[in-house]
Amino acid sequence: MSLKRLVGRIAIVTASTDGIGFAIAKRLGQEGAKVIVSSRKQQNVEEAVKLLSQEGLDVTGVPCHVAKTEDRKKLFEVAKQYGGLDILVSNAAVNPVMGEVLDCPEDAWEKIFEVNVKSSFLLAQEALPLLRQSKAGRIIFISSIAGFQPMTLLGAYSVSKTALLGLTKAAAVQLAKENITVNCVAPGVIKTKFSSALTSTQAAQDIALSMIPLNRYLNFISHVKLIRNQRKIQEQKY
Ligand code: NAP
Repeated sequence: MSLKRLVGRIAIVTASTDGIGFAIAKRLGQEGAKVIVSSRKQQNVEEAVKLLSQEGLDVTGVPCHVAKTEDRKKLFEVAKQYGGLDILVSNAAVNPVMGEVLDCPEDAWEKIFEVNVKSSFLLAQEALPLLRQSKAGRIIFISSIAGFQPMTLLGAYSVSKTALLGLTKAAAVQLAKENITVNCVAPGVIKTKFSSALTSTQAAQDIALSMIPLNRYLNFISHVKLIRNQRKIQEQKY
């Protein structure tokens, strides 16, 4: 049973049509927030909005590739139409290459830093005019345990996640006087599409699990899959 601590709040969650972002959007909605979901593909956005609306949550959606200026503009336009913005969750990230940090090709490095770091910075900067109108603005960056201890197979990605820790600390100090908090969540390995490179082969699993003292991944069932499965079971009953 959710506590409804966020009634009256409006939240943006980027990359929220699957995986961790979808779970965050769902939980914020269950706590009473109005949620704007987004990701690159219109079809994914429509499906996520439908799934969350069927759960009785107050949700809208808009496609947004976080590295595209025009898309981010549209995201904040939707927030304005929705009534403002109280919570920004910057969740999108990419990892186009597997390998050690100094083996990363330049174009992959640029892509990783553009999406994971620069877009998070720009989203926070562009959200500020709306967050400043909120009584309690909140910015949450999604980093990773790899931000604290780089993963061998995710060298450049790990460094980008460390950069988010720095961005969180610097922005938190800057905005504290305005009662806007900046925090960072650093998940462990959770089975999603994104982490499949770490979890799908035995060799990759051995390396990834060797960094985790409990020697297992966090239990996480894709909420999108879970809701789809529940719907199928209900449909079969009728
Ligand atoms: P996921 O399940 O693969 O979901 C990815 C989501 O991101 C999808 O909704 C996808 O939808 C969207 N997306 C991809 N590129 C995007 C872009 N450029 N702009 C906007 N949306 C985009 O991923 P996840 O595992 O939940 O990861 C989410 C966050 O958690 C990432 O920041 C990741 O680094 C972090 N994290 C994950 C783990 C893990 O083990 N899974 C661990 C630590 C940290 P579209 O295809 O429609 O764009």
